[in-house]
Amino acid sequence: MSRTPQNSATKISSFVLIIIFIGLALSLSALMVALAYFGSGNEVLAGYFLLVGFLGVALSTYVLFQTRRRIMRLKIEIPPVTTTIECRKCGFKSVREFQRGDYIFKEVEPCQKCNDKMLITAIYREVKEKLGP
Ligand SMILES: [Zn+2]
Repeated sequence: MSRTPQNSATKISSFVLIIIFIGLALSLSALMVALAYFGSGNEVLAGYFLLVGFLGVALSTYVLFQTRRRIMRLKIEIPPVTTTIECRKCGFKSVREFQRGDYIFKEVEPCQKCNDKMLITAIYREVKEKLGP
């Protein structure tokens, strides 16, 4: 159940990683070409390739860090599922963690107040608002 988002995250990340590494390789080869042009005295072309190479390296590293941050955010644990139990007789309400086999209108343990049978009235996931950037 909780596996699907992580799977898609790793799939996206490996795809992006390949692109980043291709970009890095291209930028590094541009730097090599720049060095070769410097060696042959063609400083204008060398300067262009140097610029392209540095921009490529900077962009690749930037994207790499951005993706890493996004993946870390995706890996934040999924909020717990809560089950609400209600007594139909006296209205006593109790909230507990979801347990396997819970379903709406299932009869559970007797009421703490009147000892009547209690029913599950709600099952929901508690989504907490994210704070910060
Ligand atoms: Zn009750």
